[in-house]
Amino acid sequence: MMDRRRFLAMGSAAAAVTAVGGAIGIEEYRLAQSRHSGWAVGKGRPAGLGAMNIVWRAQTTQMIAALTFDDGPDPRYTPKTLDILDKYNIPGTFFLQGKHVSTQPELAKNIDARHALGNHSWSHADLSNATADQARDELTRTRDIIQDVTGRVPVVFRPPYGRFSGALTMIAAGMNYDMILWSDNADPREPWRDIANKLGRRVRAGSIVLAHDGGTLPNDSVLKALPIVIEQAHDRGIEFVTVPQLLSAMRSDQAGGNLDTTQPEEA
Ligand SMILES: [Zn+2]
Repeated sequence: MMDRRRFLAMGSAAAAVTAVGGAIGIEEYRLAQSRHSGWAVGKGRPAGLGAMNIVWRAQTTQMIAALTFDDGPDPRYTPKTLDILDKYNIPGTFFLQGKHVSTQPELAKNIDARHALGNHSWSHADLSNATADQARDELTRTRDIIQDVTGRVPVVFRPPYGRFSGALTMIAAGMNYDMILWSDNADPREPWRDIANKLGRRVRAGSIVLAHDGGTLPNDSVLKALPIVIEQAHDRGIEFVTVPQLLSAMRSDQAGGNLDTTQPEEA
């Protein structure tokens, strides 16, 4: 009787022959449909890929951090957020949803040029489950409407829910985006004092703070905590910059061999 290992080895050899014998077109089709992987070859790969950064926290020795606001523009929260940033004369980075830019173009235009704009997809679908074609459509439509409405090109990308796949990473890289995640979360489900106390102490060099100026959750606690977070960070010598400015600082530190390799504290 054939032992199980030998039987399995024969089975995989047969499968390999089938794959080699199959048309290349089938493999290309499978790649184009892929939801979970990126790939280095094949017609689904955008041309001219170079390098991208996937950044949770910027590695920099400079005492700078970034406040980011997702899911806007939203009439409930975007104007209040801008007012707070104006009061402290600091910039933020707004990861806009294309769908909301299309319905709130005036709000999008009101985001002053000192703030940075990011691409946060059109529909806020979980793009880690999207095909490469779906992901490309979400990102290009959003980039295009932001450019049409504001005259500015979003230069960074944040995937909805912070979830990403190889295919999404490849599409974002093909659009010359860095993928921006976050190191600290202003959770709108927490009481404002807890948000203020936690983030006010934790924001440090290179931190990327996730907050929202839109979305499905009430955001009042975050807006109430935000001035305290800003003031406490300022007291500790942290200056707030945009995400692109944070990335520039990271690149110059890398070029100078000046990397901060310390690990972030856990939540
Ligand atoms: Zn979002």
